[in-house]
Amino acid sequence: MAEGRRDTLTGSGVTRGIAIGRAHLLARSELDVRQYSIERRDVVHEIGRLTSGFNAVRSELDHLKSNISAGAPSEVAAFLDLHRMILDDALLAEAPRDLIRTRLINAEWALTIQLEEVCRQFQAIDDEYLRERSTDVRHVVERVLAALAQGRPTTMALPRKLAPGERIVLVARDLAPADMLHLKDRADVDLAGFVTELGGPTSHTAILARSLGLPALVGADNARKVIEEGDLLVIDADADIIVVNPSAEEIADFHRRVREQNEQRVQLRKLKGRLARTSDGMAVELLANIELPQDARDALEAGADGIGLFRSEFLFMDRNELPSEDEQYEAYARVARAMKGKPVVIRTLDIGADKVLTATARESLGMGRGAPRPESNPALGLRAIRYCLAYPELFLTQLRAILRASEVGTVRILVPMLAHAHEIEQALAFVARAKEQLKERKQKYDGRVLIGGMIEVPAAALSVPQFVEKLKFLSIGTNDLIQYTLAIDRSDSSVAHLYDHLHPAVLHLIANTIKGGARAGVPVAVCGELAGELDMTELLLGMGLRQFSMHPSQILPVKEQLFGLSTKDATRLAARVLRESDPIKIRAALDYRREPPAQSPVRSVA
Ligand code: PEP
Ligand code: MG
Repeated sequence: MAEGRRDTLTGSGVTRGIAIGRAHLLARSELDVRQYSIERRDVVHEIGRLTSGFNAVRSELDHLKSNISAGAPSEVAAFLDLHRMILDDALLAEAPRDLIRTRLINAEWALTIQLEEVCRQFQAIDDEYLRERSTDVRHVVERVLAALAQGRPTTMALPRKLAPGERIVLVARDLAPADMLHLKDRADVDLAGFVTELGGPTSHTAILARSLGLPALVGADNARKVIEEGDLLVIDADADIIVVNPSAEEIADFHRRVREQNEQRVQLRKLKGRLARTSDGMAVELLANIELPQDARDALEAGADGIGLFRSEFLFMDRNELPSEDEQYEAYARVARAMKGKPVVIRTLDIGADKVLTATARESLGMGRGAPRPESNPALGLRAIRYCLAYPELFLTQLRAILRASEVGTVRILVPMLAHAHEIEQALAFVARAKEQLKERKQKYDGRVLIGGMIEVPAAALSVPQFVEKLKFLSIGTNDLIQYTLAIDRSDSSVAHLYDHLHPAVLHLIANTIKGGARAGVPVAVCGELAGELDMTELLLGMGLRQFSMHPSQILPVKEQLFGLSTKDATRLAARVLRESDPIKIRAALDYRREPPAQSPVRSVA
């Protein structure tokens, strides 16, 4: 039924398909204040969260103060002292605790109520200088709210009541990967899809959306301005659009397409038991990417030949206590057992950039004692293998857990974001050390566990001969390889139009890696999102790729595509594409379904 204003918004489709549901607008993540009631039994927990938030900011201010450079003006220290004083003032520190207890509200809500009260008192002061200090109070509170948001466990407020049969489409400025993890756990919410204003199609939020199997649109500018709570929304992720309050005819048409998609799915399921082969008989391995142990079920249902990428970091996120060795072992062993001897590639912790540990978890590692991420370019900072090498105990614990899981299946270890030969050597030395520790403890592991490395940084793609000397397999992380080759933050929607996987530089780096692996007899997989892109299957096949690792939902469509492709034609296509330097011609050669990325928005110069 048509209702209200009709509008259309564009963005980047994430999971293909169509979703229909009622809009539910979420507050802006992080600093937007989540307000919700709590149960009496949760009071202690909520007060604990508030205390951790205050402690985190205290540590942060102390850390900042101890790092003031010698030449800094004296006001800097005075300003930090002032903020420390505000933080310790009972008016701010104590009153919200009472509000939590008496009004049964969450920490953020209590804190903002008290903030307004304090600011009101400041406004009544005669002295202008003192009145101005209310801004400092506000800043301090914002820091605490930010710390609470980072250490946030599961607080996303979702509507509980909808009309029968109605589903919701979440509309948010941004959703952090941790929010998506939270949504994955919410069996009580019938989510049809979601829309974000920020985020690129290969951001980790988008990747998790795919793992939820939900159609989604990211980078939909102004979505929260145009869409109102309760609007009827259709996400057409195939066309990269959302239709707001569609007409009755449009709704009927969307429902028809949903039915067609369901029928196609039924047809595809018939391919599940067949091995993937090209029309000229070349065998291809189709592996699954998973984020959590329970996702192994989707991999099996899709008939995956194994797990090509287990993003283990999701076990570490959205929680304040890091998983112990035993907990990790259980998670890895569960996947290894479920896959019944099929290979399971477990990637070591890839924390950093948009995948962050909670403030409390970071504090437990002794990192900046709760300071917010200090890097201004986190994707280029302490991430993945760099993070693991900086925290040896964290790394060794994980390696021991993975090695122990190798006893119950075919487990492999994959190290992310390698750039330097010495990082490979150090990673291998850590594995050797973890093995020694297990031997000392008389705990079993499979001594033949293969260690591989991800090719995600151009430096690695240009150093394949050195990599294959030391590693037993390679896996190309195209999401990051594109990000780092083109200097495009993959989670930044404002540069998403420049994130071009068909850029000749990207294609050459991928082809070079596949060729380098083949020359050395070292298997190479692609585990970035490109592996599941139907428009890319023939080109990757033609470059010599024989292992594709992707979200389970893409396995059967890619398999169907492979049955119709010949390696000979694919090789010719790849040669032609790699000779081209013009992206338009590359797209034409590939008969590309999607539009080329738009040009940068150019402002005219008066
Ligand atoms: C990649 O970068 O392509 C990849 C598979 O790793 P992630 O997406 O988790 O960074
Ligand atoms: Mg990556």
